Amino acid sequence: MAASKSTLGLIRTSACIFLRRQSCQGKKQAGLSSKHLRCLSSFASLPETHELLRKTCRDFADNELIPIAAKLDKEHLYPKEQVKKMGELGLMAIDVPESEGGTGLDYLAYALAMEEISRGCASCGCIMSVNNSLYLGPLMKNGTAAQKAKYVQPFLDGSQVGCFALSEPGNGSDAGAASTIAQLKSGKYTLNGTKAWITNGYEAAASVVFATTDKSLKHKGISAFVVPKPVDGLSLGKKEDKLGIKATSTCYLIFEDCEIPEENLLGKPGMGFKIAMQTLDAGRIGIAAQGLGIAQAALDCAVDYALKRNSFGMPIAKMQTVQMKIADMETRLESARLLTWKAAMLKDAGKSFTKEAAMAKLAASETATFNAHSAIQILGGMGYVTDMPAERHYRDARITEIYEGTSDIQRLVIATNIFKEYGA
Ligand SMILES: Cc1cc2nc3c(=O)[nH]c(=O)nc-3n(C[C@H](O)[C@H](O)[C@H](O)COP(=O)(O)OP(=O)(O)OC[C@H]3O[C@@H](n4cnc5c(N)ncnc54)[C@H](O)[C@@H]3O)c2cc1C
Repeated sequence: MAASKSTLGLIRTSACIFLRRQSCQGKKQAGLSSKHLRCLSSFASLPETHELLRKTCRDFADNELIPIAAKLDKEHLYPKEQVKKMGELGLMAIDVPESEGGTGLDYLAYALAMEEISRGCASCGCIMSVNNSLYLGPLMKNGTAAQKAKYVQPFLDGSQVGCFALSEPGNGSDAGAASTIAQLKSGKYTLNGTKAWITNGYEAAASVVFATTDKSLKHKGISAFVVPKPVDGLSLGKKEDKLGIKATSTCYLIFEDCEIPEENLLGKPGMGFKIAMQTLDAGRIGIAAQGLGIAQAALDCAVDYALKRNSFGMPIAKMQTVQMKIADMETRLESARLLTWKAAMLKDAGKSFTKEAAMAKLAASETATFNAHSAIQILGGMGYVTDMPAERHYRDARITEIYEGTSDIQRLVIATNIFKEYGA
């Protein structure tokens, strides 16, 4: 978990910049004031680098994301400027080693940063997670030096983002049933098929794409490729009109005789399914942290309102039914946070973390929905309108229970691993 001096320097510098900016701007914020925000708990204490990173991200979320999150959501605006700033802070390539131009931190740091950014704006958290874990993750693990030079280096500082194309119109949970095909001929792969629901689809300058190179081998015949965008033979479907994370683009990638050089194969032929599953294992820690951020934002909003809103001559915070809700929200949030940190720490320690990442995602995503639902209830009518952020948190929370494996799929992963542990 230790970070090098130069990484620490970056985080320190960033923290200073944001603290300076904060004092210049004064306390005026469109969202909740930070004094009302509850602190994250820790096992005992986090390493200094992680604390600094968390503070930097928290200040960034308070000052630069919370004030504009509602506008981004309402107008479906891609947060280009904010993504660039996140890149400057080192948040778009958190666990890429410094020697390769990244921030050189670990997955615990990634989870902390993802939570804070998602607390400020769930769409920004989504874009950050796709670039970090779904795009850079498989490239860093499986890419050649040449692939990294071309497809990692420009994606580290937020000036370019990547995407990850696994799902198809006909199969999401059953990723092994991919019907997009890639045929090798004269040193080129030709891709044909459609990938569905691709986050960052409109903005991405490259995509990790999964396609079948040998149908007879079923999921063992799937291969992974890195595909530049734009490229001849690749077109985009319409932007999906979504319930939440509305500041992100989600669309089809349509491949029609799309030729890419043979050297764009990631790993070896047939390794694609394994690469996808490994990528999603790690990605689920990021989505768990996104859920935590949304859940925390919902709790912050509910507590703030409960203290200010009077009913029957007293603040509703004095009423036990409201207190029960707040207690349940905090308890579920803290439980999910500890699961998320544990999964991240296991990954950082080089240990198996598949089950723990699935447990973290399941707990955190269902907590995000639970907390957002409870926040709306505590706000009453004000929870139901866009003047307050509770309804956005409710809409944003739902996706964390769906992408990178639905809650049903997380339960399958958890149960399968438990039976394995019992020797079945
Ligand atoms: C906004 C958004 C962004 C996304 N971004 C990306 C992206 O960037 N890249 C990408 O590749 N994909 C992305 N996805 C796709 C996402 O990962 C899939 O939607 C998800 O995996 C579920 O697949 P599906 O929609 O095909 O549902 P299905 O697999 O058809 O599932 C439908 C229902 O059946 C249940 N079910 C299915 N199989 C089982 C089973 N074996 N046991 C129990 N229940 C089961 C599911 O839990 C679900 O309730 C995104 C989706 C959305 C909505």
